[in-house]
Amino acid sequence: MTATVNAPVSLQRPELVTEIPGPKSRAIHARREQAVPRGVGCALPVYIEYADGAWLTDVDGNRLLDLGSGIGVTTLGHTHPAVVAAAKAQLDRVSHTLFTVTPYENYVRLAERLAEHTPGDHAKKSFFVNSGAEAVENAVKISRAFTGRRVVAALDHAFHGRTNLTMAMNHRAAPYGTGFGPFAPDVQRVPNSSPLRDGLTGAEAAARTIEYLEQRIGVADLAAVIAEPIQGEGGFIVPAEGYLPALQEWATANGVVFIADEIQAGLGRTGTWFSSELFGLVPDVVLTAKGIADGLPLAGITGRADIMDAALPGGLGGTFSGNPVSIAAAHAVLDLLETGEPFAEAARVERALVDGLRELAHTYPEIGDIRGHGAMVAFELLQPGTTTPLAGLAGEIAAHAAEQGVLLLTAGSYGNVIRFLPSLAVTTEQIEYAVEVIGDALARTRAQ
Ligand SMILES: *Cc1c(COP(=O)(O)O)cnc(C)c1O
Repeated sequence: MTATVNAPVSLQRPELVTEIPGPKSRAIHARREQAVPRGVGCALPVYIEYADGAWLTDVDGNRLLDLGSGIGVTTLGHTHPAVVAAAKAQLDRVSHTLFTVTPYENYVRLAERLAEHTPGDHAKKSFFVNSGAEAVENAVKISRAFTGRRVVAALDHAFHGRTNLTMAMNHRAAPYGTGFGPFAPDVQRVPNSSPLRDGLTGAEAAARTIEYLEQRIGVADLAAVIAEPIQGEGGFIVPAEGYLPALQEWATANGVVFIADEIQAGLGRTGTWFSSELFGLVPDVVLTAKGIADGLPLAGITGRADIMDAALPGGLGGTFSGNPVSIAAAHAVLDLLETGEPFAEAARVERALVDGLRELAHTYPEIGDIRGHGAMVAFELLQPGTTTPLAGLAGEIAAHAAEQGVLLLTAGSYGNVIRFLPSLAVTTEQIEYAVEVIGDALARTRAQ
């Protein structure tokens, strides 16, 4: 039997043979700066040649511990053998026909499986596109067609993508929107629930959001509300209990489509099929992308059948949308999730991370708020005893960790969050090592 998570390398610590980045990476990076625009950012300029499980091997032969998984994509581990085998087998059979010209069965089967695993037992339909942003765009299109209304409401601290419509939905202007306007009209942002900063219960935060929706937009024009159940780029903001179901209830009562953007938090990452389940939320439309095919590009829009049928035939699709190779990989991912083992691994990762970070916070009270679910955990760096962000420190910790061969991602609207999106193949010992490296980084900044 194939292991459900890909952990082929017994290494527990990074293995560094050069400084980070090494000379070969630096040489490629110099070429990149001539050939690739700076707008395509770079968190860590090490150029990767191989990846397996939780490990990245760069062109200089360094093995780095990857706690970002390409931003929550390779949840079951890099190059999982079952995923690779499924994609290779499909590539040998057929790589493209275009589902809207001559279809293929694995697309239909994936729609059936997502209907089964997304929250709620109502009739559902799904279709597939290439990226998260495209999934968001399509959910908005369908919501408008279904309701006959114009406006879409997104939450403060949201991130939904880099296309024109989704740029208008993001919280942060820089870097996502700066210089790129004019933006799509009929997008409004409303307050979210952020227990650390607003001190509100879920019911209070929902009442505040709903007041904005009713007063600023008005139900007559509101097509959809979109929410990440746990906000990703915003810094893994976990809403207060009851907030999301109260919003869904209000949306249902007012004929507004409630869209859950599960692109970062879905598909096993938080220890459940979908993070909506953690909050008792049954959304009208669920968006998937990132982790759905363990590294191949694919995104899904799954929703109530009547909503999904609102678009005219030919109104949805795209040349590469629902590519059969990506879909074959997604079936392998769902096969592995159906064993239930990845959910247990996510719970283990959460315990190891949260316990390790709590312990560290005794020594370093700058670690101000540890939160998240499963393999989606973050902490804020705060002026001790306050909610004042220490933005520079997050970058210093990530830089120190990189020197030690540990790839950490930052996040948050204030740039002061360290977020962990490891693959479920990461071992407890590897997590403990990463926490130790963070402690070293904090000790070093104190010594300065
Ligand atoms: C990454 C992300 C997106 C955008 O997905 P792309 O595939 O980068 O277009 C949208 N929503 C959330 C919550 C994300 O994390």
